[in-house]
Amino acid sequence: MSIQRTFSIIKPDATARNLTGGINALIEAAGLRIVAQKRIWLTRVQAESFYGVHQARPFFADLVSFMISGPVVVQVLEGEDAIATYRKVMGATNPTDADAGTIRKEFAQSIEANSVHGSDAPETAAIEIPFFFSGCEIVG
Ligand code: ATP
Ligand code: MG
Repeated sequence: MSIQRTFSIIKPDATARNLTGGINALIEAAGLRIVAQKRIWLTRVQAESFYGVHQARPFFADLVSFMISGPVVVQVLEGEDAIATYRKVMGATNPTDADAGTIRKEFAQSIEANSVHGSDAPETAAIEIPFFFSGCEIVG
């Protein structure tokens, strides 16, 4: 275990329902520190590139449309074992399967509109963080 950084997105379904603060409270309660944060509106090109790994999946077009349907909040989270810790706080992809107390169980609407994204490995965090933040925007 070591201090790590992970990348997070508060998705359009959550910003639309004014849940940024509620989600941040669960993130901070889990011991993760929000060391960078900004509210942006993704372009189609950005969303397609960000979720490029899912390009061949049947839900890709819908996922991209959803991710550009409203503003998102992009974040860098820092803490002990941050990648796994945040995946645990997020809960399962499908909110029906998510554990009580997780962000997705508390707030998500569906498997698509599931309120948050989190990096799934150190290699993806290392790509996702600089996709949205320059070094001087991250203050640990
Ligand atoms: P994320 O990458 O957003 O953190 P995840 O790692 O839990 O979520 P992935 O399998 O990477 O899940 O899927 C990426 C996103 O695509 C999901 O968060 C969800 O918004 C959407 N998605 C995944 N599976 C489906 C599906 N079967 N139908 C519709 N949308 C889906
Ligand atoms: Mg994923």
